[in-house]
Amino acid sequence: MSRLHIKIGPMGSGKTTDGLRELGIQSSLNRKTCYITHVIDNRNNNHLPFSTHNESVNRLPTSTIAYKIDNLKSFVDMVIDDDLKYDLIMIDEAHFFIDLFESVKLLLLHTQNTDIIVCGLDGDYMMNPIGQILELIPLSDTCIKLNSKCVKCNEEDLNITNAPFTLRTIDNDEQILIGGMDMYLPVCRSHHIV
Ligand SMILES: [Zn+2]
Repeated sequence: MSRLHIKIGPMGSGKTTDGLRELGIQSSLNRKTCYITHVIDNRNNNHLPFSTHNESVNRLPTSTIAYKIDNLKSFVDMVIDDDLKYDLIMIDEAHFFIDLFESVKLLLLHTQNTDIIVCGLDGDYMMNPIGQILELIPLSDTCIKLNSKCVKCNEEDLNITNAPFTLRTIDNDEQILIGGMDMYLPVCRSHHIV
């Protein structure tokens, strides 16, 4: 049976790094690994095929197959039709995939012994659910919410506090707005002023 592991949390909480750690370990054991991210995420280094905001994505193991796509279902169809037998599939920036729930459910049904790691935001800048990642929690083997550290507490020389939320620092009310630390900050509850 395949397994589903979910890693959620705000920007800067190390979700991708945590997933890549597992991917790196399995790759070093010669297991067949695959990394997927959404094509929308072109922050930094547009000229590199698999650059996102996270530097470590640029250093994927050479044996890892990597895809930057907007349609997860096509990938899943390929895995099933071609019987690709990945040992580990990591889906990064999962909140961007509009076909996430259906696709991961199909992977769980049609793969035999695959670790499926899904990383993404759980909430938007308003603390509202974003994308379909929360719908997957009932299907998961493990689910962890990672925290960053509150940038505002740090700026104000307060005690270092955990940051479970993402604060948008520019004036824009679209739910999806691609940006990095220039637009978003990880913050604690008392600094999340909506
Ligand atoms: Zn704070």
